[in-house]
This record gives sequence, structure tokens and C-alpha cells, in this order.
Amino acid sequence: MTFTIYSTLSRKKEVFEPLNPPYAGMYVCGPTVYGDPHLGHARSAITFDLLFRYLTFLGYKVRYVRNITDVGHLENDSDSGDDKLLKKARLEQLEPMEVAKYYTDRYHDMMDALNVRRPSIEPNASGHIMEQIEMVKQILDTGFAYVVNGSVYFDVIKYNSRHHYGILSGRILDDLLSATRDNLEGQEEKHNSVDFALWKKAQPEHIMRWKSPWSEGFPGWHLECSAMGRKYLGDQFDIHGGGMDLLFPHHESEIAQSEIANGKQPCRYWMHNNMITVNGQKMGKSLGNSIMLEEFFTGNHKLLEQAYNPMTVRFFILQAHYRSTLDFSNEALQAAEKGLKRLMQAAKTLENIQPTASINDNENIKNIEKECYEALNDDLNTPIAISQLFEAVRIINSVADKKEKINANDIVILKNLFKNVVVDILGLKAEQNNNQSELLNNLVKMILDVRQQSKDKKDWASSDKIRDELVKLGIRIKDTKEGTDWEI
Ligand code: ZN
Repeated sequence: MTFTIYSTLSRKKEVFEPLNPPYAGMYVCGPTVYGDPHLGHARSAITFDLLFRYLTFLGYKVRYVRNITDVGHLENDSDSGDDKLLKKARLEQLEPMEVAKYYTDRYHDMMDALNVRRPSIEPNASGHIMEQIEMVKQILDTGFAYVVNGSVYFDVIKYNSRHHYGILSGRILDDLLSATRDNLEGQEEKHNSVDFALWKKAQPEHIMRWKSPWSEGFPGWHLECSAMGRKYLGDQFDIHGGGMDLLFPHHESEIAQSEIANGKQPCRYWMHNNMITVNGQKMGKSLGNSIMLEEFFTGNHKLLEQAYNPMTVRFFILQAHYRSTLDFSNEALQAAEKGLKRLMQAAKTLENIQPTASINDNENIKNIEKECYEALNDDLNTPIAISQLFEAVRIINSVADKKEKINANDIVILKNLFKNVVVDILGLKAEQNNNQSELLNNLVKMILDVRQQSKDKKDWASSDKIRDELVKLGIRIKDTKEGTDWEI
């Protein structure tokens, strides 16, 4: 079986063939840390966490780089000089780095709750100014950028005469020019409206500024990903991912920068996750309909009928294919909550199922396993894989109800399927309470094992002491022929 992914650049599914197997490199655009993470952040993080986990499962040694944008993100118009982070810092009377640290921590906390694995490297834009300046120099040297009043701009028109600016998003330069022609406010420095900033000279009120050959200033937003991707993954790497909202102009400009600085495309495969919608409308901070992750976890938002466990949110996101839009509704989240409960319950039931002797292999079970992996290999088709898992749930429940029989071999297949797909690949885990009771079970079992060893050595003093101490904690134990039972 081969793993195929849909490449935004070629607009078709392609077999994944890393440049340097068994290594695989992936770069994903991370958060801009000037605000609390919302559901859109969760979707992107979970999509690429799934990819990270699946590549690892397939045996690749994955280097996953996801950046933290803490400087220079100037909204879609990278030249308006309106630095979001700075604005926030001024508003809250904080050092910009204080704001960045606070929201980086918040992002980590929320992603940890969603069981999103941390990337291998998480570089900050502000910690890679040298690398960015180096790249600006290279682009200037080739003549594809120009300096005006201490700022440096990428010459998109010149670039487009040799390459296609718009290759990723399918845009045509002429259309871009006519669309931006009337909007020249604050863009007087640029030769053309489509040019974008590589370096911006800082205004006097700008706190975050660095020395450069051109001015004291700060890098343009698109530059950090090109510079940091190159530093940690090389001139060309395997996969570049991000949300669909970053496709243009951010990723389009990354391609242009890398083409000029490195002489090649930055990556082999571009992958983009789709957006979250509310009643068919895009969910976004600027649209005022975005729900923060913390609000999901506490239920504290006017659009929410209840609080949702982080695993419910994760499962809700995985139930849709990452390239489809995902419409938010309480009904859908409540259905996800129920479905996840059923899935986790079945996983527990499966642990205690005993094989029935002399039953032939169940062909359905083999088929479920096959289809599940085929779905994941088909551009991470999680909705199909999950529907196969629910087929397995049906069989498990039927066996538990003694309506169906199962042999030892099939139990092993199912256990592996749950371990690999549910736990390792989809990253789903039982809710906190279940985890804690599991921990308690294991702890008491461990203590009882120690007591048994004391008894075996006829060390009655120790075994009695353990029993008495447990009683003091409110745990009563009872020795039976089969072993020791306990209860709180
Ligand atoms: Zn980026």
C-alpha cells in the first residue's frame, strides 16, 4: 500500500515519496501569538498532527517544524505597518515579548489538551532575524528586490516574467494587478501594488526592531517561513502545510522567495486544510463569529449549548476530511461526543473479550482493518477510517452480548487496530476521569503485587502493614482463591 496525498500545487493526489527516505521533513505555518487560539487553530494543528503521527506510524523519521510568528505579521496587507502584536501590547501596556510568551503558552496549553503532539522544532520568527536578513540580501543580489527609504520589496512583476506568481493559488498576475490598482493607500513606496515587503523600516513608535543593512526595522511576514524552513529542513523539503487562508498571498510569496534565493521550489508537496464555517459562513476572528478553544472547554459562549471535552473537539474535527469545510453546530459536536464515547467504551470492552475456541477467522474483521488503512493512505481520509472503526465497534458489542463469536486471532487484529488507529494515529484518548481511574487501578494493583511478594516470602509483618495502610486510605482488600479483590 502506498500513501497518497493531495498536493495543492499539482491539484491532484500524488504518491508520497520523500526526498531522503527514511527521513521526512514537514513545515507547517504556526500561530501568530497575539490572541487566544480558536477552533480554526485547532483544525490546522490537528490536521498536521494527524499527518505527523501517520508518517511516523508508516516508519518515517519525521522532522516536524512549526513556527511561532511573533513579529512582522501584518495581516493580509503586509505593508500597512499595522503590526497586530504591537497593537495588542500597546493596548494591554505590555512588552511585545510578554504578549508573545503569554499567547504561546496559551497555544501550547490548548494544543496539549487536544492531544496535539509538539513539533520537533518550534522556531520563533524573532529568534531568526539573521537568517531572514541573509535571505533578503540574497534576493537583492539577484535583482528581484529593490530598496526604498530603508524598506525592501520583492519585485513580483520581474519575478513573474520568469516564473509564475500565482502558481499555487491559480491566480494570474494581470487579475491581481487590476484588483489592487485602486488600493494604493500606504503603498507609495512600492513600484507595483502586488509587490510585497521583505524588510520594513520601523516607524519611531515601533518597539520591535532590528539593525539591518537597509534600516532599523523588521522582516516582512512571508519571509520567516522561507528562512526558517530552509534553516531546519534544507533548500527543498518534503511537505509544507497550513490553513487554506494562507495559500495566498503567504504561501505564494514563500514560493517566490525560495525560487529566487534557493533556485528551487521550497517543497515537494503543499497541503492545506479547509476552513471551519458557522451556518455556512467562514469562522474568523475578524468576522466576530469565532469561538475560542477555552470557550469550548468551558461552554462559556453564546453559540454553545454546553461545554465540550477537548477529545470531543478533536474527534469532531477528525470526522471530516481535512480538505472539506467543517460546519460548526452543537448537534454535530453532541453527535461527536456520543460517537467518541461509544468508540472508547468498545475499546474498553475489547480488553476483556475472551476468544471462543474453534471459530473460523471473521473475514469482516480483516476487511475492516484493510479498509481502515486504505482510507488513511488515501490522503488521510479519516471519515472513512472512522466509519470502519464503528463497524469494529458493532462487532465488539455483538461479541460482548454473546450474539457473535470471535477467535483469538481476530481479537489480536482488533486490539492492534484500536491501538494503532484510535490511539497512535487519530490521537484519541479516554477522558480525564477514565485516565485517573485507570491510574488508580494500576497503582493499587502494583501495591497488591508487592504485598503478594511479601506473603510469598512469608514476611507477614510487611504484608499486614500494607493491608492496614490501605485500610487507613479507605481501600478494603479481600483475599480470595483467585487473588485479591479490592474496593474503595
Ligand atoms: Zn508561514
